[in-house]
Amino acid sequence: MALKDWFAACVHLLFPKVCVVCSLPLSAQEECVCHRCNIDLPRTNLHLKPDNAVERMFWGKTELQRATSYFYYQRGSDYREILHQLKYRGRKEVGVSMGKQMAAELQKDGFFDDIDYLIPIPLHRKKQRIRGYNQSACLADGISRVTGIPVIEKAITRQRHTETQTRKSAFDRWTNVEGIFKLHSTELFANKHILLIDDVLTTGATCVACADALVEVDNVRLSVLTLAMAE
Ligand SMILES: [Zn+2]
Repeated sequence: MALKDWFAACVHLLFPKVCVVCSLPLSAQEECVCHRCNIDLPRTNLHLKPDNAVERMFWGKTELQRATSYFYYQRGSDYREILHQLKYRGRKEVGVSMGKQMAAELQKDGFFDDIDYLIPIPLHRKKQRIRGYNQSACLADGISRVTGIPVIEKAITRQRHTETQTRKSAFDRWTNVEGIFKLHSTELFANKHILLIDDVLTTGATCVACADALVEVDNVRLSVLTLAMAE
């Protein structure tokens, strides 16, 4: 055993990593979620259904090629911890790991066919400075590692720092994000198919606002993928 591997094994023994969902120790092969929790993950499998519930949320608001969320979360569900650790506990690696996992599963069903770029929904620079990273960019990074599709981060920026969406009514969520994204390069995206990546889908308002920033691009096609959606 190489010294490096021996050292890694010792660290693992002294400080075992635990499953984000059930808190039981992970084996060396498991990244963030243990095998058992992974089997029970409430996958939506909506990418297999045409005109699915996620796509319907965008009807009449923005035209999409396809849209899906990877898993359902509920208030009080242990699986919500995946989102919590990624967003509020600095666990960037949870995003990369979940990005890789959902990409590997959805790729088999052709979800990434003809996608040219991945765009993580941008955070306002102040918010990103406080958090230290953009959780959606971590997901996009993981997806890119599996699919090879490039991630474009700086082409769209968030102009306003909006208050947290969770305490707002549905109507306020829509007006709150209207016009908050700005596109800096139209040529890059002409005739391209872009996949917008976000961590959680609630009303879809943020994705629609981001899609609105791309309307002036010639013949651009858009799709949406989020890690989770409320059940
Ligand atoms: Zn577990």
